[in-house]
Amino acid sequence: MKAVIGLEIHLQVTSSKTKLFCSCSSDYRRSPPNRNICPICLGLPGVLPKPNSYVIEKALMLSLALESKISSHLIFSRKHYFYPDLPKGYQISQFTYGRISAIAYGGSLEIQVGGVRKKIGIRRINIEEDPAKIVYPERDPWKSSYVLIDYNRSGIPLIEVATEPDLESAEEAVKFVEKLLELADHLDITDPSLEGSFRVDANISVEGGERVEIKNIGSLKDLDRAIRYEILRQKRIIESGEKIRRETRHWDDITGSTVSARHKEFEEEYRYMPEPDIPPLEISEEYIEKIRSSMPELPWIMKRRFEEKYKLSEYEAGVLVSRKWLARFFEDVVRIYKNPGKVADLLINDFLGRVNEAGGRFDLVKAGPEQIAELLDLLDKKIISIKILKEILGRVMFEGIDPRKLVEEKNITVVSEDQILEELIDRVMRENPKAVEDARRNPKAINYLVGQVMKLTQGRADPEKVNSILRKKLGYEK
Ligand SMILES: [Zn+2]
Repeated sequence: MKAVIGLEIHLQVTSSKTKLFCSCSSDYRRSPPNRNICPICLGLPGVLPKPNSYVIEKALMLSLALESKISSHLIFSRKHYFYPDLPKGYQISQFTYGRISAIAYGGSLEIQVGGVRKKIGIRRINIEEDPAKIVYPERDPWKSSYVLIDYNRSGIPLIEVATEPDLESAEEAVKFVEKLLELADHLDITDPSLEGSFRVDANISVEGGERVEIKNIGSLKDLDRAIRYEILRQKRIIESGEKIRRETRHWDDITGSTVSARHKEFEEEYRYMPEPDIPPLEISEEYIEKIRSSMPELPWIMKRRFEEKYKLSEYEAGVLVSRKWLARFFEDVVRIYKNPGKVADLLINDFLGRVNEAGGRFDLVKAGPEQIAELLDLLDKKIISIKILKEILGRVMFEGIDPRKLVEEKNITVVSEDQILEELIDRVMRENPKAVEDARRNPKAINYLVGQVMKLTQGRADPEKVNSILRKKLGYEK
């Protein structure tokens, strides 16, 4: 049984300073509840919403990157439904039934799963406002005797991307969303590391069954789990000879299952009507060209450039380009320290790991490219060992301390002065006569003695040098 999956991804335009139709601050994450509100985003009678041109520009950039066809006019509609998160009883969106009246439609985004490339069709791209945020004091809606509503999020700009039902597995769906987030990051639309920066609705059907929509999936991990669960659930129902009902379900990340939503929500039930307070906006060819010329380098083009210019592997280039911040930082370091392979290695294997431990927050990194270049330089000059580099990397990154200063202060340079090393080696040989005897017979036994010297210096000795001095003292070399 084949699965057919289409996604609707809501990207929050986290780079917009203001809401979609008013000048309220969009920074709801750090504001006390119900602080950033005004008559427009509360939908009080008689107000006039005014579209945010920055958001329109970003939606057009995304449309151009996906090679979608841009509509000649931007038309907003009212989408009616009744829910406490929607004070005015409607959401200002774009008519989403069918393909017309979106800001753009058509186009595609290519993904690669298991070495196979696949183009996923784009159905449409919309602009709409986010509803308010409902807070259940007991977290579980059924256990909470009341709800709290924070209208700070009411009116936050969203760009919605709907795909054609071209996806066939959870893996493909996750890859697609990852790719789209990467693009949105490069276009300065969405910062994917911010909590709640995107939400996904997944339409899933299994051969011979009706379509089921799973709403409001908030992370890639949950998207993967929800789709796997839902495909299995539908297959089992069909195999047992029953029929799949067309319905809306919610993903419950606590139980790891999808649950039927109490109320049905289908497009034809939303009673769309054109938003009477916002006249259709013309999107002229000239305007589109102006935006096209201001677009940054697209991630897949940047990736190819990294492979060619810096001779990186496809994997390395892919990781560095996965976030715009990282790609830019890489190039900044390479401008100072001119060995791209070594910079890529350090950023991918050590630097990125620490950022991920900090929740993927690049904004917490205080080190500049100079400090990272300096670390690599200290390593080249054998002033520090790779072990020490890894030890101090965290402090350099998140405290912005100059590595040279840190090394001097803590006296953690590599012990490489011959005289000091000789003394240490003599001491180790004195204290381990049996090991010395073994080593004289069997060169492999030298490693034990090298290990003892490393231990004495807390890993700060240069192992190659220790090895060579030891070999001389044991009579292997003259
Ligand atoms: Zn407002």
